[in-house]
Amino acid sequence: MPLDYRALAVSSVCDLLPYEPGKPPDELEREYGVRNAIKLASNENPSGPSDSVKKAIETAAKNINRYPDGSGFYLRKALANKYGVSPDQITLGNGSNDILVMLAECFLAAGTSAIYDEYSFIIYRTAVKATGAEARQSASINDKNAQYLGHDLHAMSELIDSSTRLVFIANPNNPTGTWVSNAQLHDFLLSVPDHVLVVLDEAYYEYALGEDYENTIPWLEDFENLIILRTFSKAYGLAGLRVGYSISSKSLAELLNRVRQPFNVNHIAQAAALAALGDEDWVSESQDLNLRSMALLKKGLDKLKIPYIPSKANFLLVELGKLSDDCYEYLLKHGLIVRPVKNYGLQYHLRISIGAPAEMIVLLTNLADFQAAHND
Ligand SMILES: *Cc1c(COP(=O)(O)O)cnc(C)c1O
Repeated sequence: MPLDYRALAVSSVCDLLPYEPGKPPDELEREYGVRNAIKLASNENPSGPSDSVKKAIETAAKNINRYPDGSGFYLRKALANKYGVSPDQITLGNGSNDILVMLAECFLAAGTSAIYDEYSFIIYRTAVKATGAEARQSASINDKNAQYLGHDLHAMSELIDSSTRLVFIANPNNPTGTWVSNAQLHDFLLSVPDHVLVVLDEAYYEYALGEDYENTIPWLEDFENLIILRTFSKAYGLAGLRVGYSISSKSLAELLNRVRQPFNVNHIAQAAALAALGDEDWVSESQDLNLRSMALLKKGLDKLKIPYIPSKANFLLVELGKLSDDCYEYLLKHGLIVRPVKNYGLQYHLRISIGAPAEMIVLLTNLADFQAAHND
């Protein structure tokens, strides 16, 4: 009899479900025989990285027989300069996902608890539950006249007690695209007791920047229990290389450094991220493109009378009701990959990443065809 290792694994891990990534285009092409698939499923930057980043990658590729700089010296220094903090406040991660796991490892175990919104980034659940800590999900805002499906910070506060170590806030949130204003967030931080760390996940920061949404890094001076997470995976177009970072107090960064894998960010990724930081024009062009494509998509959805949740990120959560599974399948057959969000408990929605304008037009045409086929 082969041994069932599940019987030997810790129970907190047995209860987990594996992460389901967006379907890769070549998988769709293999399975459905379509060509030139369009992927709108993982909130990636449709323009990819700039030429200067590609060049830095080529140069860095010459040295991959050597271990990377385990301290990420130059990248941390460049980030510190950009944000006016000390390099000792920066922790690099293999994607910001890595930092979420480090935080859970540092602060959670059986007997402690962590809080996140019921429709927030699914990795919070996995990172928390894997440690054996109690996961407390706060109810989202359920009012269509407010930030529907957004974080209810008041509900989150109410779940805090002496066992609580971490509260996760995704701003803007994935998969809803909703955000909390700086004013709401600041009030929340004032109300949180010192023994609770607030993990402010700003993966879409570059896209969201603007009215209601300002840089929160200066707040670190007032709130020792704040940690801000950002990433090169979204607006910087480097999802495939896995680089994210956090900015926090030095003492928190020092703690994370104890559990960080010594070479968690590889050599090519460090070089690419450093080059990307030097190319801010590329990021602002990506922001502009996102706004233009988003406007195009919203206009098309309005015309088709398909509702969506207002978003400050580079995706829209679109409400298709009972037809959402059929719509997902229809789009796949026509070479378009969007993201089902059933695993988030949202069975009537699909999450659509903002692509290039031409991709939005193909999507809208297919949505119109789908509607026409289902309206009779
Ligand atoms: C995409 C995303 C991340 C992190 O992605 P990495 O590629 O690991 O940096 C973190 N939080 C949210 C809310 C995201 O959507």
